[in-house]
Amino acid sequence: MEPLLLSKRERRKLASKYAELCLTCGTCAGGCPVSGIEGLDPRKVVRLAVLGLDQEIIDSKFPWVCTLCGRCEYACPMGVDLVTLLRSARGLRDRDKVPGVLHKGVEMCLNTGNNVGIPKEDFLFLLEDIGAELAEELPGFEVPVDQKGARLLVTINSKEPFAEPEDMTFWWKIFYAAGESWTVPSENWEGVNWGLFTGDDAALKEIVSRIVKNYKELECEYLLLPE
Ligand code: SF4
Ligand code: SF4
Repeated sequence: MEPLLLSKRERRKLASKYAELCLTCGTCAGGCPVSGIEGLDPRKVVRLAVLGLDQEIIDSKFPWVCTLCGRCEYACPMGVDLVTLLRSARGLRDRDKVPGVLHKGVEMCLNTGNNVGIPKEDFLFLLEDIGAELAEELPGFEVPVDQKGARLLVTINSKEPFAEPEDMTFWWKIFYAAGESWTVPSENWEGVNWGLFTGDDAALKEIVSRIVKNYKELECEYLLLPE
């Protein structure tokens, strides 16, 4: 079993921190919106980690129902690093046991540039099509793709072009009304990083680095991550 904490040295350091600092006061559990699910709460998770029962945490549903909101950590009088602990537990679960479609989405994003695998030509066709429809309401409107020097680089939740394309137009109408300078990249435009949610740091980094690459190459000033 791989230790929950990333190295033996780190494990000793953090385990000792929990052991020495956690008062078992339960303040973290009191503010947690998912306390009690699977019989766990953040205080109990800390106790399991202190006792070396890492696999129980990894196998549990709790790290996945945790919203990573950070309320527990914010409330903890001893500064225990609860969010890192919970996210590490997600990252240490075997990838084929990651709940739902999350890991498939990560792989899809790494392979195609978005979580649901929309091909580039379909994406561009959709932007053009919806843009033309919107131009009937907003004269001169078109979706600016790969526009170098735009002020704003806009990423998109793939759920929208996949199932709710109209939702993209809410942003576009605001940009139009504000006279904003903006652009959408033709590749690697996914705005939802499931590497973050699944504790997959390598995927997280790769997906972020692609967005940064777009941002630099298109010489934008701001990045919009609507999700
Ligand atoms: S709030 Fe902090 S000190 Fe109190 S039980 Fe939770 S982790 Fe331990
Ligand atoms: S970060 Fe997770 S464990 Fe902590 S309060 Fe939020 S939901 Fe609960």
